[in-house]
Amino acid sequence: MTVPNLADFYRGGAVVIAGGAGFIGSHLAERLMALGAGVTVIDNELTGSRKNLAGSPAVTFIRADVTEPLPPLPPKPAAVFNLASAASPVHYTKYAIETLRAGSKGTENLLDLAEKSGAVFVQASTSEVYGDPDIHPQPETYWGRVNPVGPRSMYDEAKRYGEALCAAYERSRGANVRIARIFNTYGPRMQLDDGRVVPNFIAQALRGQPLTVYGDGKQTRSFCYVSDLVDGLLRLGASDVRGPVNLGTGDERTILDFAGLIRKLTGAQSEIAFRPLPTDDPLQRKPDNTRARQLLGWEPVVPLEDGLKETIRYFQKVMGA
Ligand code: NAD
Ligand code: UDP
Repeated sequence: MTVPNLADFYRGGAVVIAGGAGFIGSHLAERLMALGAGVTVIDNELTGSRKNLAGSPAVTFIRADVTEPLPPLPPKPAAVFNLASAASPVHYTKYAIETLRAGSKGTENLLDLAEKSGAVFVQASTSEVYGDPDIHPQPETYWGRVNPVGPRSMYDEAKRYGEALCAAYERSRGANVRIARIFNTYGPRMQLDDGRVVPNFIAQALRGQPLTVYGDGKQTRSFCYVSDLVDGLLRLGASDVRGPVNLGTGDERTILDFAGLIRKLTGAQSEIAFRPLPTDDPLQRKPDNTRARQLLGWEPVVPLEDGLKETIRYFQKVMGA
């Protein structure tokens, strides 16, 4: 294993981030600027906002939809990161067709750009490609258990198609593709109302409202802090690793335990309010991180409690304002 040297790879180069005005993309942009890259963000602000880039004024922001013909972009980027897609169940349900188009036509347009310019293309895929898994933890070799017509299918199948496109561009055209299968990631700049469990529980706790646990709360997720995830994406982009790589933590929690942790960290007295489990909600999720560890030297380092304290501080500020 050669651990990629991030500064050597990114310093002085141009990097395009599609979806860079979103939660993860804005952190990626910030980190790339700190490494000395020139960053261009292309985003239609469907579920993100250029306000997320306020702390990085040197980033070039272009408001555009990646499913349309792309506007002029740096001609020779070192890397193109594709994060352009609604990501929370509430958002991708509301923007179902947009999500399918972002994963298909949007990914194709960005792959064309990367292929033409010889750039590394990093696809933000997801643990949702495993669906409701019957193998635990999930290795990259697992093909998944996805309902192709269910209420999460617009997202799961768009991401699976996106991976298939990447594989085809790599095989047929020699494109320089990397695929990150991202597991649940959290941190500052998540949207308060995007319906995901982290903003929901924190906002509910800070308002003194009951925490809404779906189902019996025994379903599990493994939560990764955004700075760790960004580090994994950057390492993957700077590496020559082919094939999908899981990025997530092995710190698996039940949702009920997670609710208890949010209560403890906020000091809230909130009760638990049980609500129906959404259809096809995966019952267990934890990455097998062997490939990321062995091939990228990547291991998440931020403990869940520390990351949540940062995130709670962020939501306190947002809600106070
Ligand atoms: P986000 O909604 O905050 O960011 C997505 C960004 O993409 C937004 O700024 C949105 O406006 C933009 N976008 C959507 N459609 C677009 C289009 N057609 N053209 C241009 N821009 C478009 O979500 P996030 O949590 O930051 O997720 C970023 C990426 O990472 C997504 O691709 C998501 O599927 C993937 N991912 C995230 C997680 C997670 O836990 N956050 C987990 C797995 C995968
Ligand atoms: N969840 C919950 N209460 C909420 C929001 C979500 O119990 O208010 C559950 C949800 O059913 C799922 C888990 O928390 O089992 C993670 O949900 P999220 O939407 O954050 O991400 P995903 O389902 O995409 O992993």
